[in-house]
Amino acid sequence: MKILVTGGLGYIGSHTVVELINAGFTPIVIDNLSESEIEVKERIEKIVGKPIIFEQVEMCNKNEMIQLFEKYPDIKGVIHFAAYLIVNESVTNPLKYYHNNIISTLNLLEVMLQFKIKPLVFSSSCTVYGNPEDLPVNEHAPIQPAVSPYGNTKKMCEDILKDTALANDIEVISLRYFNPIGAHESSIIGEFQDGPPHHLVPYITETARGLRNELRIFGGDWNTKDGTCVRDYIHVVDVAKAHISAVDRMINNKISEKFEVYNLGMGVGVSVLEMVNAFEEATGIKIKYNITARREGDVEAVYADTTKANQILNWKTEKTLTDAMRDAWNWEKELMNNSNLI
Ligand code: UDP
Repeated sequence: MKILVTGGLGYIGSHTVVELINAGFTPIVIDNLSESEIEVKERIEKIVGKPIIFEQVEMCNKNEMIQLFEKYPDIKGVIHFAAYLIVNESVTNPLKYYHNNIISTLNLLEVMLQFKIKPLVFSSSCTVYGNPEDLPVNEHAPIQPAVSPYGNTKKMCEDILKDTALANDIEVISLRYFNPIGAHESSIIGEFQDGPPHHLVPYITETARGLRNELRIFGGDWNTKDGTCVRDYIHVVDVAKAHISAVDRMINNKISEKFEVYNLGMGVGVSVLEMVNAFEEATGIKIKYNITARREGDVEAVYADTTKANQILNWKTEKTLTDAMRDAWNWEKELMNNSNLI
Protein backbone atom coordinates (compact mmCIF):
# COMPACT_ATOMS: atom_id res chain seq x y z
CA MET A 1 0.00 0.00 0.00
CA LYS A 2 1.45 3.34 -1.08
CA ILE A 3 1.66 6.16 1.49
CA LEU A 4 2.86 9.61 0.46
CA VAL A 5 5.38 11.05 2.92
CA THR A 6 5.98 14.78 2.52
CA GLY A 7 9.29 16.01 3.91
CA GLY A 8 10.33 12.38 3.99
CA LEU A 9 14.06 13.11 4.00
CA GLY A 10 13.85 15.25 7.14
CA TYR A 11 14.61 14.14 10.68
CA ILE A 12 11.31 12.57 11.74
CA GLY A 13 10.25 11.92 8.14
CA SER A 14 13.26 9.73 7.36
CA HIS A 15 12.79 7.60 10.49
CA THR A 16 9.11 7.22 9.62
CA VAL A 17 9.95 6.10 6.07
CA VAL A 18 12.08 3.31 7.56
CA GLU A 19 9.27 2.22 9.90
CA LEU A 20 6.69 2.33 7.09
CA ILE A 21 8.85 -0.03 5.05
CA ASN A 22 9.39 -2.26 8.09
CA ALA A 23 5.60 -2.41 8.45
CA GLY A 24 5.13 -3.44 4.80
CA PHE A 25 4.02 -0.11 3.30
CA THR A 26 5.51 1.47 0.16
CA PRO A 27 6.33 5.09 0.95
CA ILE A 28 6.35 7.64 -1.86
CA VAL A 29 8.87 10.08 -0.45
CA ILE A 30 8.77 13.71 -1.51
CA ASP A 31 10.98 16.56 -0.38
CA ASN A 32 12.06 19.87 -1.89
CA LEU A 33 15.56 19.36 -0.40
CA SER A 34 15.56 22.87 1.05
CA GLU A 35 16.20 21.60 4.58
CA SER A 36 17.46 18.10 3.87
CA GLU A 37 20.15 16.23 1.99
CA ILE A 38 19.57 13.86 -0.93
CA GLU A 39 22.11 11.60 0.75
CA VAL A 40 19.42 10.72 3.30
CA LYS A 41 17.65 8.77 0.54
CA GLU A 42 20.69 6.51 0.09
CA ARG A 43 21.03 6.19 3.83
CA ILE A 44 17.41 5.05 4.19
CA GLU A 45 18.04 2.54 1.38
CA LYS A 46 21.08 1.26 3.24
CA ILE A 47 18.96 0.57 6.33
CA VAL A 48 16.05 -1.09 4.52
CA GLY A 49 18.23 -2.88 1.96
CA LYS A 50 16.27 -1.80 -1.14
CA PRO A 51 15.59 1.28 -3.28
CA ILE A 52 12.89 3.71 -2.20
CA ILE A 53 10.64 5.87 -4.36
CA PHE A 54 11.70 9.51 -4.16
CA GLU A 55 10.50 12.59 -6.04
CA GLN A 56 11.83 16.10 -5.60
CA VAL A 57 8.63 18.11 -5.36
CA GLU A 58 7.93 21.69 -4.34
CA MET A 59 4.64 21.47 -2.47
CA CYS A 60 4.03 25.20 -2.81
CA ASN A 61 3.69 24.57 -6.55
CA LYS A 62 0.26 23.02 -6.95
CA ASN A 63 0.97 21.79 -10.48
CA GLU A 64 3.87 19.73 -9.20
CA MET A 65 1.54 18.20 -6.61
CA ILE A 66 -1.09 17.38 -9.25
CA GLN A 67 1.56 15.74 -11.43
CA LEU A 68 2.73 13.70 -8.46
CA PHE A 69 -0.75 12.33 -7.74
CA GLU A 70 -1.24 11.62 -11.45
CA LYS A 71 2.00 9.67 -11.51
CA TYR A 72 1.02 7.66 -8.41
CA PRO A 73 -2.77 7.19 -8.67
CA ASP A 74 -2.72 4.42 -6.06
CA ILE A 75 -1.59 6.54 -3.08
CA LYS A 76 -3.85 5.51 -0.19
CA GLY A 77 -2.89 8.03 2.44
CA VAL A 78 -0.54 10.87 3.32
CA ILE A 79 1.82 11.70 6.17
CA HIS A 80 2.62 15.40 6.07
CA PHE A 81 5.94 16.45 7.65
CA ALA A 82 7.17 19.06 5.18
CA ALA A 83 7.54 22.39 6.98
CA TYR A 84 10.08 24.96 8.00
CA LEU A 85 10.74 24.56 11.71
CA ILE A 86 13.41 26.88 13.03
CA VAL A 87 11.71 28.95 15.73
CA ASN A 88 14.19 31.89 15.73
CA GLU A 89 14.20 32.15 11.97
CA SER A 90 10.41 32.25 11.95
CA VAL A 91 10.54 35.33 14.19
CA THR A 92 12.90 37.20 11.88
CA ASN A 93 11.34 35.94 8.65
CA PRO A 94 7.67 35.20 9.40
CA LEU A 95 6.49 35.39 5.79
CA LYS A 96 8.84 32.59 4.79
CA TYR A 97 7.14 30.41 7.42
CA TYR A 98 3.55 31.45 6.80
CA HIS A 99 4.01 31.12 3.04
CA ASN A 100 5.70 27.74 2.99
CA ASN A 101 3.94 25.95 5.85
CA ILE A 102 0.44 27.15 5.00
CA ILE A 103 0.52 27.07 1.18
CA SER A 104 2.03 23.59 1.11
CA THR A 105 -0.72 22.32 3.41
CA LEU A 106 -3.48 24.03 1.41
CA ASN A 107 -2.14 22.59 -1.85
CA LEU A 108 -1.92 19.15 -0.32
CA LEU A 109 -5.52 19.28 0.92
CA GLU A 110 -6.85 20.55 -2.42
CA VAL A 111 -5.05 17.84 -4.32
CA MET A 112 -6.15 15.15 -1.86
CA LEU A 113 -9.75 16.23 -2.38
CA GLN A 114 -9.27 16.26 -6.15
CA PHE A 115 -7.85 12.73 -6.13
CA LYS A 116 -10.24 11.50 -3.42
CA ILE A 117 -7.62 10.52 -0.86
CA LYS A 118 -9.01 10.47 2.65
CA PRO A 119 -6.40 9.71 5.34
CA LEU A 120 -3.91 12.35 6.43
CA VAL A 121 -1.50 12.20 9.36
CA PHE A 122 -0.22 15.63 10.35
CA SER A 123 2.98 16.48 12.12
CA SER A 124 2.00 18.88 14.91
CA SER A 125 3.70 20.00 18.07
CA CYS A 126 3.18 20.46 21.80
CA THR A 127 4.03 24.09 21.12
CA VAL A 128 0.26 24.58 20.65
CA TYR A 129 -0.16 24.13 24.44
CA GLY A 130 2.21 27.00 25.29
CA ASN A 131 2.92 27.07 29.03
CA PRO A 132 0.14 24.77 30.23
CA GLU A 133 -1.49 25.24 33.62
CA ASP A 134 -2.06 21.56 34.31
CA LEU A 135 0.63 18.92 33.95
CA PRO A 136 0.86 16.40 32.44
CA VAL A 137 -0.93 18.08 29.56
CA ASN A 138 -3.69 16.16 27.80
CA GLU A 139 -5.33 16.76 24.43
CA HIS A 140 -8.17 18.76 26.02
CA ALA A 141 -5.83 21.46 27.33
CA PRO A 142 -6.60 24.88 25.88
CA ILE A 143 -4.58 25.97 22.86
CA GLN A 144 -2.49 29.01 23.78
CA PRO A 145 -1.56 31.94 21.55
CA ALA A 146 1.62 30.93 19.72
CA VAL A 147 4.89 32.53 20.83
CA SER A 148 6.46 32.28 17.37
CA PRO A 149 5.29 32.36 13.75
CA TYR A 150 6.51 28.74 13.50
CA GLY A 151 4.24 27.71 16.38
CA ASN A 152 1.43 29.70 14.85
CA THR A 153 1.74 27.81 11.55
CA LYS A 154 1.25 24.53 13.46
CA LYS A 155 -1.86 25.92 15.14
CA MET A 156 -3.17 27.42 11.89
CA CYS A 157 -2.59 24.19 10.00
CA GLU A 158 -4.46 22.24 12.67
CA ASP A 159 -7.41 24.66 12.28
CA ILE A 160 -7.30 24.37 8.48
CA LEU A 161 -7.13 20.58 8.65
CA LYS A 162 -9.94 20.33 11.16
CA ASP A 163 -12.30 22.61 9.22
CA THR A 164 -11.47 20.83 5.97
CA ALA A 165 -11.96 17.38 7.48
CA LEU A 166 -15.32 18.34 9.00
CA ALA A 167 -16.61 19.67 5.67
CA ASN A 168 -15.15 17.09 3.28
CA ASP A 169 -14.34 13.45 2.76
CA ILE A 170 -10.97 13.74 4.49
CA GLU A 171 -9.86 12.34 7.85
CA VAL A 172 -6.98 13.75 9.84
CA ILE A 173 -4.90 12.49 12.73
CA SER A 174 -2.77 15.27 14.18
CA LEU A 175 0.18 14.01 16.20
CA ARG A 176 1.48 16.55 18.70
CA TYR A 177 5.14 15.75 19.26
CA PHE A 178 6.83 16.72 22.48
CA ASN A 179 10.65 16.71 22.14
CA PRO A 180 11.92 14.08 19.66
CA ILE A 181 15.57 13.19 20.22
CA GLY A 182 18.09 10.51 19.30
CA ALA A 183 18.64 8.75 16.01
CA HIS A 184 18.19 5.38 14.33
CA GLU A 185 20.11 2.75 16.29
CA SER A 186 22.18 1.96 13.17
CA SER A 187 23.53 5.58 13.24
CA ILE A 188 22.84 5.70 9.51
CA ILE A 189 20.16 8.38 9.81
CA GLY A 190 19.64 11.08 12.41
CA GLU A 191 19.20 14.84 12.59
CA PHE A 192 21.49 16.62 10.12
CA GLN A 193 22.94 19.87 11.43
CA ASP A 194 23.14 22.73 8.98
CA GLY A 195 24.85 25.30 11.18
CA PRO A 196 24.20 25.67 14.91
CA PRO A 197 21.74 23.16 16.35
CA HIS A 198 18.21 24.16 17.22
CA HIS A 199 17.67 21.79 20.13
CA LEU A 200 19.20 20.74 23.41
CA VAL A 201 20.50 17.24 22.64
CA PRO A 202 22.68 18.21 19.64
CA TYR A 203 24.17 20.95 21.84
CA ILE A 204 25.00 18.27 24.42
CA THR A 205 26.57 15.94 21.84
CA GLU A 206 28.52 18.77 20.18
CA THR A 207 29.87 19.74 23.60
CA ALA A 208 30.85 16.11 24.24
CA ARG A 209 32.61 16.07 20.90
CA GLY A 210 34.58 19.21 21.72
CA LEU A 211 32.94 21.43 19.10
CA ARG A 212 31.73 23.61 21.98
CA ASN A 213 33.57 24.52 25.16
CA GLU A 214 30.50 24.17 27.30
CA LEU A 215 26.76 23.69 27.26
CA ARG A 216 24.83 26.80 28.12
CA ILE A 217 21.80 25.97 30.26
CA PHE A 218 19.16 28.62 29.83
CA GLY A 219 18.09 29.53 33.36
CA GLY A 220 18.56 27.87 36.74
CA ASP A 221 15.83 29.75 38.55
CA TRP A 222 12.70 28.24 37.02
CA ASN A 223 10.07 26.91 39.39
CA THR A 224 11.00 23.27 38.71
CA LYS A 225 12.63 20.40 40.62
CA ASP A 226 16.19 21.68 40.06
CA GLY A 227 15.56 25.15 38.62
CA THR A 228 16.07 24.14 34.97
CA CYS A 229 13.31 23.78 32.38
CA VAL A 230 11.36 20.55 32.08
CA ARG A 231 10.42 18.82 28.83
CA ASP A 232 9.17 15.45 27.61
CA TYR A 233 11.95 13.93 25.48
CA ILE A 234 11.00 11.00 23.26
CA HIS A 235 13.10 8.76 21.01
CA VAL A 236 12.56 9.66 17.35
CA VAL A 237 11.98 6.00 16.42
CA ASP A 238 9.11 5.83 18.92
CA VAL A 239 7.68 8.97 17.32
CA ALA A 240 8.08 7.38 13.88
CA LYS A 241 6.26 4.22 14.97
CA ALA A 242 3.27 6.25 16.17
CA HIS A 243 2.74 7.31 12.55
CA ILE A 244 2.36 3.68 11.55
CA SER A 245 -0.27 3.22 14.29
CA ALA A 246 -2.07 6.33 13.01
CA VAL A 247 -2.01 5.12 9.40
CA ASP A 248 -3.25 1.67 10.50
CA ARG A 249 -6.14 3.26 12.39
CA MET A 250 -7.17 5.29 9.36
CA ILE A 251 -6.88 2.63 6.68
CA ASN A 252 -8.76 0.16 8.86
CA ASN A 253 -11.62 2.69 9.21
CA LYS A 254 -11.32 2.90 12.98
CA ILE A 255 -11.46 6.69 13.10
CA SER A 256 -14.21 7.94 15.41
CA GLU A 257 -13.82 11.67 14.76
CA LYS A 258 -12.81 13.27 11.48
CA PHE A 259 -10.05 15.22 13.23
CA GLU A 260 -8.29 13.31 15.98
CA VAL A 261 -5.40 14.61 18.07
CA TYR A 262 -2.81 12.62 20.03
CA ASN A 263 0.10 13.61 22.25
CA LEU A 264 3.37 11.80 21.53
CA GLY A 265 5.75 11.86 24.46
CA MET A 266 7.23 9.56 27.08
CA GLY A 267 4.89 11.09 29.63
CA VAL A 268 7.77 12.04 31.90
CA GLY A 269 9.07 15.52 32.69
CA VAL A 270 12.88 15.68 32.51
CA SER A 271 14.92 18.76 33.45
CA VAL A 272 17.90 20.05 31.47
CA LEU A 273 20.26 19.00 34.28
CA GLU A 274 18.70 15.53 34.27
CA MET A 275 19.35 15.38 30.53
CA VAL A 276 23.00 16.20 31.10
CA ASN A 277 23.18 13.43 33.73
CA ALA A 278 21.39 10.97 31.43
CA PHE A 279 23.94 11.68 28.69
CA GLU A 280 26.86 11.27 31.09
CA GLU A 281 25.46 7.97 32.38
CA ALA A 282 24.73 6.61 28.90
CA THR A 283 28.13 7.50 27.44
CA GLY A 284 30.54 7.96 30.34
CA ILE A 285 31.44 11.40 28.93
CA LYS A 286 31.35 14.43 31.23
CA ILE A 287 29.60 17.56 29.94
CA LYS A 288 30.92 20.93 31.01
CA TYR A 289 28.01 23.30 31.47
CA ASN A 290 27.26 26.81 32.60
CA ILE A 291 23.92 28.06 33.84
CA THR A 292 23.17 31.32 32.02
CA ALA A 293 20.21 33.68 31.63
CA ARG A 294 16.82 32.38 30.62
CA ARG A 295 16.11 32.10 26.89
CA GLU A 296 13.34 34.38 25.66
CA GLY A 297 10.11 32.58 24.89
CA ASP A 298 11.02 29.42 26.81
CA VAL A 299 8.25 27.49 28.50
CA GLU A 300 8.98 26.46 32.11
CA ALA A 301 7.66 22.93 32.05
CA VAL A 302 5.66 20.80 29.65
CA TYR A 303 5.18 17.05 29.51
CA ALA A 304 2.52 14.83 28.04
CA ASP A 305 -0.37 12.79 29.25
CA THR A 306 -0.08 10.02 26.66
CA THR A 307 -3.07 7.95 27.82
CA LYS A 308 -5.04 8.67 24.64
CA ALA A 309 -2.27 7.56 22.27
CA ASN A 310 -1.55 4.53 24.46
CA GLN A 311 -5.17 3.39 24.57
CA ILE A 312 -6.67 4.44 21.25
CA LEU A 313 -3.66 4.32 18.92
CA ASN A 314 -2.47 1.25 20.82
CA TRP A 315 1.00 2.78 20.80
CA LYS A 316 3.54 3.14 23.54
CA THR A 317 7.17 4.12 23.73
CA GLU A 318 9.67 1.28 23.63
CA LYS A 319 12.94 3.18 23.98
CA THR A 320 14.42 4.71 27.12
CA LEU A 321 16.17 8.02 27.65
CA THR A 322 19.42 6.05 27.88
CA ASP A 323 18.75 4.50 24.45
CA ALA A 324 18.07 7.96 23.04
CA MET A 325 21.27 9.43 24.49
CA ARG A 326 23.38 6.49 23.29
CA ASP A 327 21.89 6.78 19.77
CA ALA A 328 22.30 10.58 19.76
CA TRP A 329 25.97 10.19 20.66
CA ASN A 330 26.56 7.47 18.03
CA TRP A 331 24.92 9.75 15.46
CA GLU A 332 27.17 12.63 16.50
CA LYS A 333 30.16 10.33 15.93
CA GLU A 334 28.78 9.48 12.49
CA LEU A 335 28.57 13.23 11.71
CA MET A 336 32.10 13.61 13.02
CA ASN A 337 33.40 10.95 10.63
CA ASN A 338 31.48 12.42 7.66
CA SER A 339 32.18 16.11 7.86
CA ASN A 340 30.50 16.57 4.47
CA LEU A 341 27.19 15.82 6.20
CA ILE A 342 27.30 18.88 8.40
N1 UDP B 1 18.34 24.38 26.29
C1 UDP B 1 19.48 24.76 26.98
N2 UDP B 1 20.63 24.97 26.28
C2 UDP B 1 20.71 24.81 24.94
C3 UDP B 1 19.53 24.41 24.24
C4 UDP B 1 18.37 24.21 24.95
O1 UDP B 1 19.44 24.92 28.21
O2 UDP B 1 21.78 25.05 24.38
C5 UDP B 1 17.09 24.13 27.04
C6 UDP B 1 15.94 25.04 26.65
O3 UDP B 1 15.97 26.22 27.42
C7 UDP B 1 14.75 24.16 26.99
C8 UDP B 1 15.25 22.74 26.76
O4 UDP B 1 16.67 22.82 26.74
O5 UDP B 1 14.43 24.29 28.34
C9 UDP B 1 14.78 22.15 25.46
O6 UDP B 1 15.07 23.06 24.42
P1 UDP B 1 14.81 22.73 22.90
O7 UDP B 1 15.16 23.96 22.13
O8 UDP B 1 15.50 21.46 22.57
O9 UDP B 1 13.26 22.42 22.83
P2 UDP B 1 11.97 23.34 23.14
O10 UDP B 1 12.38 24.50 23.97
O11 UDP B 1 11.46 23.72 21.82
O12 UDP B 1 11.04 22.45 23.88
